[in-house]
Amino acid sequence: MSGTSTSTTVITNIATLVTNDPSLGDRSPLGLIQDAAVVIDGDRIAWTGETSKAPATDNRVDAGGRAVLPGFVDSHSHLVFAGDRTQEFNARMSGRAYSAGGIRTTVAATRAASDGELEANLTRYLDEALRQGTTTFETKSGYGLTVADESRALRIAAAHTDEVTYLGAHIVSPDYADDPAAYVSLVTGEMLNACAPHARWIDVFCEKGAFDGDQARAILTAGRAKGLHPRIHANQLSYGPGVQLAVELDAASADHCTHLTDADVDALASGATVATLLPGAEFSTRAQWPDARRLLDAGVTVALSTDCNPGSSFTSSVPFCIALAVRDMGMTPDEAVWAATAGGAAALRRDDVGRVAVGSRADLVLLDAPSHVHLAYRPGVPLVRGVWRRGVRVV
Ligand SMILES: [Zn+2]
Repeated sequence: MSGTSTSTTVITNIATLVTNDPSLGDRSPLGLIQDAAVVIDGDRIAWTGETSKAPATDNRVDAGGRAVLPGFVDSHSHLVFAGDRTQEFNARMSGRAYSAGGIRTTVAATRAASDGELEANLTRYLDEALRQGTTTFETKSGYGLTVADESRALRIAAAHTDEVTYLGAHIVSPDYADDPAAYVSLVTGEMLNACAPHARWIDVFCEKGAFDGDQARAILTAGRAKGLHPRIHANQLSYGPGVQLAVELDAASADHCTHLTDADVDALASGATVATLLPGAEFSTRAQWPDARRLLDAGVTVALSTDCNPGSSFTSSVPFCIALAVRDMGMTPDEAVWAATAGGAAALRRDDVGRVAVGSRADLVLLDAPSHVHLAYRPGVPLVRGVWRRGVRVV
């Protein structure tokens, strides 16, 4: 929170301001205002409108005819880990199929790492993401798979974000390979008790080779009883019960959603669960893209996130995911930018981030481009020129 004496700053001469408030500007879902200004007061947005009408402030920043949009909300990452999986990626790109088992490599490295090593790795990737415009991020445990290793991962993550997810049910721990039921008991019992104080969310990888629908239901229900809110890794590698379970349990998000039946799409359209698409995973595994167009046309709320993790999607770049979503998943540039900002906020059930509205958090990205469309139009180009987080310019 800001202190007692805050200063006000106006950013003027914004060619295109993305507000995500459809009552503003062009009345589109992005609420685009041309020739715009934004006033920051402390850690909040205090005013938006046309530059010519901007009020007087203590400080003034000239955007120079560039675009400003809300900081990205990356609602799905796995950043508490050690080691990397370069060889696995290289092998896969040389023709071997992806399977969930590669996680075991990261589990071994993570267990062997010190707290300091894990935190240094986490902050390295957070800084990397921040330089690319991510001002809110969620991250998960899931590479410890013991009571002590899962709880320490969450403790370390909680020092850096409020959006912490307990994913003891990432895979069945290799220590329980012969007795998955005993591992589910651990995840819903002693491990949950140790982890719940450090987390807001509970997640499960509902997939062949990980956890089936009944196990996922038991794990999420146990988490809910301890005050955690559910989200699910659902329908990534194959069709399955994950998406419909997510809607049934009012999970904030069903993540991946690559293999969906019509009934899955209908369920998402009728519930409050966001479909979070993670194209970095399909890119990095040469897998089939999720069909964003089908979801959007059905009225489903879609979020875009990185899934940043060392195995299947080692990118921290939301702009890269926006470009993929536009090129290969049928999203318009406007839809992709909305999904990576307001959509991510919806997937975290937040209304204070992901938009530029009076009273929302002053998390802003200044692009070295006149329009947000350039995020897809100029893929791979480092367009993020400035970042404000909680009203403070950090890039
Ligand atoms: Zn994931």
